[in-house]
Amino acid sequence: MEIVRAELVAVTGRKDQYPPEDLAEVAFAGRSNVGKSSLLNLLTGRKKLAHVSGSPGKTRTINFYEVTAKREEKEPLTFRIADLPGYGYAKVARSVSEGWGTMMETYFEERDCLRKVVQLVDIRHEPSKQDVQMYGYLKHYGLDGLVVATKADKISRNQQQKQLAQIRKSLAMGKDGLVLPVSALKKTGWEELTEVLEEILT
Ligand code: GDP
Repeated sequence: MEIVRAELVAVTGRKDQYPPEDLAEVAFAGRSNVGKSSLLNLLTGRKKLAHVSGSPGKTRTINFYEVTAKREEKEPLTFRIADLPGYGYAKVARSVSEGWGTMMETYFEERDCLRKVVQLVDIRHEPSKQDVQMYGYLKHYGLDGLVVATKADKISRNQQQKQLAQIRKSLAMGKDGLVLPVSALKKTGWEELTEVLEEILT
């Protein structure tokens, strides 16, 4: 499938302001600067859908997008993407990061239309403590199993295989879990990701 339309429909941290639950939803999570905005822009074919950050860690809201994807020999699929606020930025005050935790908990626990959370990690590094913690939350809520390793262009194919195995191990992923290498810069890996998303959403 290929996303052909994407529209920002809500920017909020409050449950009473989430869009209605009439469409299936997938969310994207990752630490600040991991490349989440770039990935969302790549997926939606928009240059400026999500803001590529100069100063990471500022957003404390969930951005909800309504998107339509075209599919071969099938009806177009309309769903929502939730862009979750980046975590792990050291300069964020404790009060802010605590608010972040509560907001995430509410979202994961109470968003019934949420099918999966795509967790982003940087392919070059071992997942951070916070990445592991986030993946732990996702497991707890049954939303785990799909990880995107970003910035795949930064290392060789050989190194990629090693890093993918390391990410799997650090996150203690189950055997059914998927780690997909993606490069927003080289525009690679997104087709595999949209295929998996289509399966999840239908
Ligand atoms: P966010 O904070 O997670 O939304 O991350 P951004 O999308 O703003 O990206 C953070 C930085 O990483 C920016 O300087 C991007 O240009 C860079 N970046 C993002 N994706 C890629 C990628 O696939 N390859 C490379 N080489 N750089 C990337």
